[in-house]
Amino acid sequence: MTATVLGIAEGRALGGSLRVVVTRPRALTAARAAVEEVVAAIDVAASRFREDSELSRLNASPDRVVKVGPLLARAIEAALRGAELTEGAVDPTIGFAVRIAGYDRDFDSVPARGGPLRLVASRVPGWSAVRFSAATRTVVIPRGVELDLGATAKALASDMAAAAAARVIDGGGVLVSLGGDIAVAGEAPVGGWTIQASEDSGAELADAEETVSIASGGLATSGTTVRRWMRGEVTLHHIIDPATGLPVDSVWRTATVAAGSCVDANIASTAAIVMGERAPRWLRERGMAARLVDRDGVVHRLAGWPKAAESKLIPTIL
Ligand code: AMP
Ligand code: MG
Repeated sequence: MTATVLGIAEGRALGGSLRVVVTRPRALTAARAAVEEVVAAIDVAASRFREDSELSRLNASPDRVVKVGPLLARAIEAALRGAELTEGAVDPTIGFAVRIAGYDRDFDSVPARGGPLRLVASRVPGWSAVRFSAATRTVVIPRGVELDLGATAKALASDMAAAAAARVIDGGGVLVSLGGDIAVAGEAPVGGWTIQASEDSGAELADAEETVSIASGGLATSGTTVRRWMRGEVTLHHIIDPATGLPVDSVWRTATVAAGSCVDANIASTAAIVMGERAPRWLRERGMAARLVDRDGVVHRLAGWPKAAESKLIPTIL
């Protein structure tokens, strides 16, 4: 048997690591170009770190009917669907809360340490305060609501980028990872795409790390150990509990979920961190294969997540 030689391109995108992998190395340049086009479009549409993004303009126009472009509409629709499916554990109205906790610019530029902050617990405005029509692509956000599409837009970008790349590579398969939000499209390598389950999406590939393989859909990891910072003596991180508006004090430090799309995997992985002890039941009831790492570093594998390394996993649609 001959091992598949993969073509791999790496870089940075949307404030995190970017990996594009193709099963036919000569397709790499075309695949990467297709991925970068999607990523650039998502950034202009949905970044909260760019004043000129469509999302920033929407956030600056409360109480008004705003017509948005097709891409931002898709991202908002995906975020609201995530909120509904998770009963608000994933909620795009955490924008103000995550900003005042210190995550107010591209993560690479957030200072690791700073003076103490005075944060007051208060429930976020809530996704049901957002009025959105997919038919007319119009949105109204009430004053005081800041949308943050950080969780869903990156996953949507992975799904769309993998699909776009699969269209231009003329056969074979492609995997796109944006900061650990992974989508695959086209024909998978024999035995599936082998993916390393790490806390840090930028981690080097290492033989000792656990791997899992998928042939379709997506895989997403959320966690509190990488995007974190200190203000005074307090450690803060980027996943907000909508019930308190503060970084969640979760029993899980990392959640990895496989699903029929990266968007679904991402909804479930972010939700798992927020739901804490309720997460295993929620994931099992929906048959979402997941790998949760608790505070002590103990790994919990649920709903079909394989025990042995490199076993196949069948993603479920949420
Ligand atoms: P992820 O890494 O996919 O779990 O997404 C985390 C990102 O989503 C954060 O960096 C925030 O921008 C945003 N976020 C934080 N907490 C939540 C939440 N409870 N619901 C939705 N988005 C969130
Ligand atoms: Mg994610």
